[in-house]
Amino acid sequence: MLGEDVAADRDYPPFHRATRDGYAVRSRDLNPAPAELERVGEVRAGECMQKPLAAEQAVEIMTGAPLPAGADAVVMVEHTESDGTKVRMLRAVSEFENVVRQGSEARAGDMVLRRGRRLGPAEIGLLATVGRVPVRVFRKPRVAILPTGDELVPLDKRPLRHQIRNSSAAALAALVEAAGATPWVVGIAPDREDELRRLIEQALGADLVVVTGGVSMGKYDFVEPVLRACGAEFYFQGAAIRPGKPVVFGRAREKLFFGLPGNPVSSMVTFELFVRPSLGILAGAEPEPLVFLRARLAKPFRHKTGLTQFLPARVASSGGDSMVELVAWQGSGDWVGAAAANCFLVIHPHQTDLAAGDAVDVWPKAWI
Ligand code: AMP
Ligand code: MG
Repeated sequence: MLGEDVAADRDYPPFHRATRDGYAVRSRDLNPAPAELERVGEVRAGECMQKPLAAEQAVEIMTGAPLPAGADAVVMVEHTESDGTKVRMLRAVSEFENVVRQGSEARAGDMVLRRGRRLGPAEIGLLATVGRVPVRVFRKPRVAILPTGDELVPLDKRPLRHQIRNSSAAALAALVEAAGATPWVVGIAPDREDELRRLIEQALGADLVVVTGGVSMGKYDFVEPVLRACGAEFYFQGAAIRPGKPVVFGRAREKLFFGLPGNPVSSMVTFELFVRPSLGILAGAEPEPLVFLRARLAKPFRHKTGLTQFLPARVASSGGDSMVELVAWQGSGDWVGAAAANCFLVIHPHQTDLAAGDAVDVWPKAWI
């Protein structure tokens, strides 16, 4: 996350830049075309021609080279014929054709990146081009991940028949990293209030806390009472989504926390819907809306849940359209189905009866 505003150190491009290999000309000399001009030299990328171009002259020019003074367009080499001293221009060009004008991308002093911007590949390229290396950045937020459940065993232990591996925490740690933060898996909390409280208090040492499991209606779902005992204030308890309905969000000891359902896909969906945006906002970034793409449904779909559903699916383009099809899965505990998907099909509450071919929303997996 960028920690300071960044301005352009000079005009971009810094000169009128040729975008094609060809001949730099004065466009008015080619009216009418074809026209024959005198070839007066060559300018390569990384060079600069001192002498201005006079009337009826052309200079051979390479992509990325600065236009000589006096020239205002480039004729692509494909549209010329040359014997070495004369060049025949077969087509006319308009002013600044095949040229990016000096300062058209940014003027010296223009703000090109604001503090709080997440640094992806394009932003890093922009910082490099304006020479802002090194640059001030914010410390990555540290996110505590606290999985809960008596059935969970650490990844380096062999689970007994009635136990399962702590897979959601592994996926959440990967999501935290993909969101530009540092994960810290605190340890597995048992479904026991005293030990859960001890680990939650420890987790509250991080910048943000993500507890998974133990937020539903089960007899041993202690996360909410324990958080309350730690002085938590809840901003919401539950969302009209599936999977992920039991998700909770609040603040305890000045730290924001989320309680995500423990099921693998529920925890991933609720992380992407709620935790990732919060991490951005905490770091001072502008809130970014979710982006859904449109696709056509491969097979009919019916539901009456009244919830917004996120279903693992595969989207692929087919004959100009994007078609989306659900993957086979056994519900939100199914890693095999989740890993086979490349998107979520988003079904809104009013879409109770969808036919094959209907347009639907698709949420690309943000983390792949
Ligand atoms: P809970 O949200 O605690 O009611 O858990 C819902 C389901 O998710 C149960 O089947 C749990 O066994 C499973 N589950 C909970 N936590 C994890 C985890 N960390 N990794 C894998 N599965 C989990
Ligand atoms: Mg549980």
